[in-house]
Amino acid sequence: MPITLIALLVAFAFVAYFAWCNKGTRNCRWRKDSTKDRDTLHFYHCVTCGAEAYTATDGPPRDCKAKVTSRPL
Ligand SMILES: [Zn+2]
Repeated sequence: MPITLIALLVAFAFVAYFAWCNKGTRNCRWRKDSTKDRDTLHFYHCVTCGAEAYTATDGPPRDCKAKVTSRPL
């Protein structure tokens, strides 16, 4: 059994695992809405799944708040 094949399989498994883990967040596109900001909290709205979240940091939320993905368009 060639070792490169095993290494390739392991690498593929890792990529597939991380891709599966980030499935809910990767498609999320957060839009900042400063009109709904609360003091130090920044309001973000996900245009992909419709989730709404507040963050205390500058960046958008790292994970999606809405777990429901199978929503009819
Ligand atoms: Zn989302």
